[in-house]
Amino acid sequence: MLPNILDIATDHQLTFQPRSFGKKQTLAKCPFCREDDQPRKRKKYYLSLNTQEQLFRCWFCGESGGVFRFIALLEGVSEKEVIDRYRKKSGSTYKQHPAEKLTSSQCKMMGLDAKPDWVDIRKFDYESYKELRELVWKAWKQFLWNEKRFAYQLLVAGVAGGTYGNVVEAIQEREKAIGSPLLAEVLDIYSLPERPAQINRLEALTLHMCDPLKYPYSPMEKQ
Ligand SMILES: [Zn+2]
Repeated sequence: MLPNILDIATDHQLTFQPRSFGKKQTLAKCPFCREDDQPRKRKKYYLSLNTQEQLFRCWFCGESGGVFRFIALLEGVSEKEVIDRYRKKSGSTYKQHPAEKLTSSQCKMMGLDAKPDWVDIRKFDYESYKELRELVWKAWKQFLWNEKRFAYQLLVAGVAGGTYGNVVEAIQEREKAIGSPLLAEVLDIYSLPERPAQINRLEALTLHMCDPLKYPYSPMEKQ
């Protein structure tokens, strides 16, 4: 959310036209040209604030722009400085993207060297930060998908080989290590009355690898 232009103007003690104060268009004396400060223009208020869009314009000198430019002009600093300052401030209340919540061991498990320093990257380059966030999240989902596939194969092999108890333990160990549920999800898929074709293929392949004679593999055949 943008800073509130009316609050900014109030903080800087602008002189408002009383009857317009707080309305969508609030009028004030222009602090930039001060044309309406002259005694003969006592009733004039050249600066118009759009309090909904957070914009300003002076009808006399033509100075105009958004709230960041407004702050910059009032404080005599660059607009970039104002934006940077505002970003830093809003950073503390920023709602984290799920990718940023991944722990450093999760980041390492999925193949990153380390957990990205999100705060630093966000400060340095906002666009790159957003791109990296999406990339990491996509990689994590891919990682989880692979994990589920391995867990499913393990389950199928365990059932076929009579080591169900052991594989359940192994899957539980793994879900603890990656910090994401596995067992409940693979059991859900395993117990579906009709599994997706892709899962049937994976299952046929796994069984075939366990015992090629007992489970001949023909991927084209409906299981
Ligand atoms: Zn002006």
